[in-house]
Amino acid sequence: MTLLLVLAVGTARPLAAQGGSGDPSQPTMHIVQANETLYSIALQYGTTVDAIAAANGIADVRYISIGQQLIIPGSEATTGPVALAPVPTSVIPYIVQPGDSVESLARQYGVTPTMLAAANNMFLPVPFYVGQEIVVPQGNPTAVPQAVYAVRAGDTLGRVALRYNVAAGALAQLNDLSPSSPVFVGQRLWIPGGNRATRVYDLPYPVIACQLTPVPSIQGQTLSIHLQTATPATMTGMFMGYPLQVMTQDATQHYAMFGIHTFAESGTYPMLLTVTSAGDVRTSFELRIRIDDGDYGAEGISLATEMQDLLQPVVIEPETDYVTMKMSGFTAQRYFSGVVSLPSDGAITSYFGTRRLYNGGVLDTYHSGVDFGGATGAPVLAPAAGVVVVAENLPVRGNATIIDHGWGVYTGYWHQNEIYVAVGDVVTGGQVIGTIGSTGRSTGPHLHWEMWVSGVPVDPLQWLQQPFP
Ligand SMILES: [Zn+2]
Repeated sequence: MTLLLVLAVGTARPLAAQGGSGDPSQPTMHIVQANETLYSIALQYGTTVDAIAAANGIADVRYISIGQQLIIPGSEATTGPVALAPVPTSVIPYIVQPGDSVESLARQYGVTPTMLAAANNMFLPVPFYVGQEIVVPQGNPTAVPQAVYAVRAGDTLGRVALRYNVAAGALAQLNDLSPSSPVFVGQRLWIPGGNRATRVYDLPYPVIACQLTPVPSIQGQTLSIHLQTATPATMTGMFMGYPLQVMTQDATQHYAMFGIHTFAESGTYPMLLTVTSAGDVRTSFELRIRIDDGDYGAEGISLATEMQDLLQPVVIEPETDYVTMKMSGFTAQRYFSGVVSLPSDGAITSYFGTRRLYNGGVLDTYHSGVDFGGATGAPVLAPAAGVVVVAENLPVRGNATIIDHGWGVYTGYWHQNEIYVAVGDVVTGGQVIGTIGSTGRSTGPHLHWEMWVSGVPVDPLQWLQQPFP
C-alpha cells in the first residue's frame, strides 16, 4: 500500500512543482534529519522519490542516513540553500569482516557509532556478525586509530604507549584522557597512528589481524582463517563442533582451513578462537560467522540393473569409510600454494553439490565432486603438488587415486582407466597421474574429481579462483 501511494503522489506532483521561484543555478540542499525517509522529503519539497534518487545517484532508495546532504531537483522549496556542514554525504555498502565492531568502523569512517547504527536502522549496541551486509556513512575521519587495546593488569597509559611506540600524550588525547589518568583492566584504548587505509581490528591483544576468506562463507566451500599475533603464540579453535587444525608459521602467523559441509544449514555460527602466548597467557574470543546457502541444484541418475547391486550399503559403506579415513588426515607439510589447476581439459558435465536422486530414490545424497567428460585414455593431471596416498581399484570408485596436499587438503580421482602413480610418489602440479575411464560405478567414461578439506568434501572449483592459504 505504501509503495502504491508513493507512486501515485510521485506522478501527480512533479508538474506542479516545475518553475520554482528559486535561482535555477542554485540547487536546494536538504540535510536528512532523524526519522526522515526519501518519501517524506519528496513530499516536503513537492518532488518525487525517483527524482531525488536520480539527482543524488542513490541506487537503493531505502538507504539514506542522518546528516546526508541531498540535492532537491526542480523543487519549490520554501527554504533556501543551507550551509554545508561536515557531515556524511553518502553511504557505501560494506560486508562485515572479522574484528569489525560498530566502534572500530565508526572511527575508520569518521562518523559516530550512533550514525552508523542509524544508517542500518539499528540501535546500539549493534551485534554485527562476519559476512553481514551493512551500509557505512562516509564521514571525515580525522584521527583513525591503528588498533584498539584492552588494558591488562599492570598497564598504565605510559606502558601501553611504549608497547605501541606512540606518544603518551597522543594516546591520552585520542581517548579523551589526561596523560596522568589511571586506567582499568579491560578498559578499551584506541591507539593513535592509523590513517584512512588502516583496518582497525577490534580484537583482543595480542591478536593484531584476522582474515577469513571467503566472507560470507558458503556451504560446500573451504573457509580459510589467517590470524596474526603481535608476539609468539599458538592458536586453537572450534567451529561447527569441530576443532580447527591450526598451522603456525614464524610463531606469529596462524592458519587454519575448514571444509563447510554442503548440508550445513545456512545461518550464523560462532567460531571460538584461543591464543596462548608466553607464560601460558590465554586470550579467547568469538567470531560470529555467516554461512550462506550454496544454491546447489538437484538431478536424477539412472543406473542399469546390473549396476544397482553396487548401491547396496554392504558395498558402499566399507569403501566410503576407507576413502573417508584416507582423505581426513592432517599432514603438517604443505605442498600447495596459491590457486590449483584443472585435472582434465574435458568439459565439466556435473558440478559439486548437486543433490542426487538415484533411480527415483530419496534425495539424501549429493554429488561430492566435479565430473569431466572425456574419451577413455585422455590424461588426468595433478592440480597441485602432493604425495600419493591411494592408488588402487575400488568397487564403486573404480581405479582410484588420492593425493595428500598437506594441511588437511586431499584430492581424489575416480573411475580412471589407468593409474600411472603409486602410493608414496611425490607428484607436481600438472603431472599426468592417470587416464580417464569408466571403471567402478560409472555410466560412461569420465573423471570424477573430489577435494576434501578438514575431513569434509568441498567444491574444488573454488580453489581455481581463490589462492590458499
Ligand atoms: Zn562425479
